[in-house]
Amino acid sequence: MPNRSAAASRTRLPNMIAIAGSFVAIAALAFGLGLTGPARAAPAALPGHAGAPYANQPELAAIGERVDRYLPVPDEAAAPAVDAAKGYRLQELGRGLYLVTDNAYQSMFLVYETGVVMVDAPPRYSAQLLKAIAEVTDQPVTHVIYSHSHIDHIGGVLDLGGSPITIAHDETKRLLARAADPKRPVPTVTFGDTYSLKVGSQVLELSYHGVAHEPGNIFIYAPEQKTLMVVDVVFPGWMPWRRFALAQDVPGYFQQVADIDKVPFETFVGGHVNRVGTHQDVRDQLEFMNDVKAAALTSLQTTAPEKEMDPADFANPWAVFDNYIDRVVVQCVNAVTPKWQPRLAAFDVYIWDQCYAMEQSLRID
Ligand SMILES: [Zn+2]
Repeated sequence: MPNRSAAASRTRLPNMIAIAGSFVAIAALAFGLGLTGPARAAPAALPGHAGAPYANQPELAAIGERVDRYLPVPDEAAAPAVDAAKGYRLQELGRGLYLVTDNAYQSMFLVYETGVVMVDAPPRYSAQLLKAIAEVTDQPVTHVIYSHSHIDHIGGVLDLGGSPITIAHDETKRLLARAADPKRPVPTVTFGDTYSLKVGSQVLELSYHGVAHEPGNIFIYAPEQKTLMVVDVVFPGWMPWRRFALAQDVPGYFQQVADIDKVPFETFVGGHVNRVGTHQDVRDQLEFMNDVKAAALTSLQTTAPEKEMDPADFANPWAVFDNYIDRVVVQCVNAVTPKWQPRLAAFDVYIWDQCYAMEQSLRID
């Protein structure tokens, strides 16, 4: 029986390790006494187990390594505190336009003469959204805009009650129809390129700029309030979420960050982190991304395959690539760390992910 033999090898293994350990200890003692012999090498790891670190291994923990304490978040990224009893904070962004956030997720709403337009309803605090709206108006929610289809941003829409008109991109409708999630009803109104929502004296301009984070992810612009909301693309003051915020199209993602900078906003709402952003935040993120791209490109061009690995594995192409890509990423992380670790909150959390996403995109896109 497989289970019994597995249990038997588990009990045998420690004994074998103990015997091997005693041998190493005796050998070390012998060499320590000045007896001749080869230089002592670190014992080889078991096949498939983690071995010695690569040459120039960065000090920041790699993916999958446990971190006891992450780098402190710089003061610059600190934001107004959220009242724990309320579970959210409100911030006025211009006439009738409000940010709602728990300092991790962000949504916004626009008040007009006879109603309210809600943009996204993150389940993290959607149960409090009606209370947040009631702080500034008695008008009902008449419209909801979905920034994109992801449940972590719109999955609380039913908490708004009533039967508001829901507006989203055609691709968002397609993805929501496929998801068939009762918590995310398909939108009642969709568009392809642009859509202008005029309600009372207020206006929101919606537009589509292609796939970056996800098909159907749109720009939402309030021209009077000079506020632009684009979710899961730019993270003011912070390291982007892992793998360029899970961008489904990395070259498209680079283009979209540049496109965001062309919009004449004064306030940027990114859907995440603890504050709104500025053009400088967008430019900083693009500069960081371009530095990662340059570092990954140089590393791909200067890293030789089949180094720092056992020649016995050369016939295994998966292993050769795994080792090569690891060393490309080691060089990428080392190249960008001195400049960006002090400038981006949570740099340590996702820098390895960004370098892995970048080298992959450069090789296959
Ligand atoms: Zn998303």
